[in-house]
Amino acid sequence: MTELIYHSDSYSREVKARVVSGSEGGVVLEKTIFYPGGGGQPADEGKMLWSGYVARLDKVKKAGADIVHWLHGPLPEVGQFVKCKINWQRRYLLMRTHTALHILCGVIWRDFGAQVTGGNMEPGSGRLDFELESMSGDFAEQIEERINAEVQAARPVQVNVLPRQEAFQIPDLIRTKINLLPEGIPEVRTVEIAGLDLQADGGTHVANTNEVGPIKVVEHKSKGRMNKRIRIQIAEPEADEMS
Ligand SMILES: [Zn+2]
Repeated sequence: MTELIYHSDSYSREVKARVVSGSEGGVVLEKTIFYPGGGGQPADEGKMLWSGYVARLDKVKKAGADIVHWLHGPLPEVGQFVKCKINWQRRYLLMRTHTALHILCGVIWRDFGAQVTGGNMEPGSGRLDFELESMSGDFAEQIEERINAEVQAARPVQVNVLPRQEAFQIPDLIRTKINLLPEGIPEVRTVEIAGLDLQADGGTHVANTNEVGPIKVVEHKSKGRMNKRIRIQIAEPEADEMS
């Protein structure tokens, strides 16, 4: 069972970990910082370094309780310690994007009582579809103003792990389709934007809404009677701000 560092510390961008097994042509580490994708958030990119080798991460995926890493080039042996380095610029952009989408989700639920029916996320942009009947003429401007107010409100974003029974008693969680979680899961990880949004979520988020920065509503359209699509974009950092 791989220890999921990204679940408790999304800001961890480098770690040294031991290879515990090989699986399907990839390697399993005792712990990992690489998000394997899921809940709409794409998998991380990065590399591994060990005794003179540098290998780019080709793919990272969940396989049962393990996270399997496929590499471009040679594989480290079982027992070997490797240094893992995440493509931090991309991951941090995804963290900000993911939190921005939860802000949008929280505002639409609070002000319109509409649930999310689908979505998509890329580094720096994303869209959500809502069970919403109509949009006013100034809908996009209104939404943009309200979600940016939540960024400026600097709301803390908290991650919690709850026993399954406890989680199933929280009305906000039931709303976000917690019922879809597999039966066997004993605990539920939640992401809460204090005072705005609470969801069962496995993704990586920033610690405060003010890290998201300005959000633009770049598209809004009707996809049907009870289906409205909103696409947002956040500001990407300049190349020389990379680390
Ligand atoms: Zn999410």
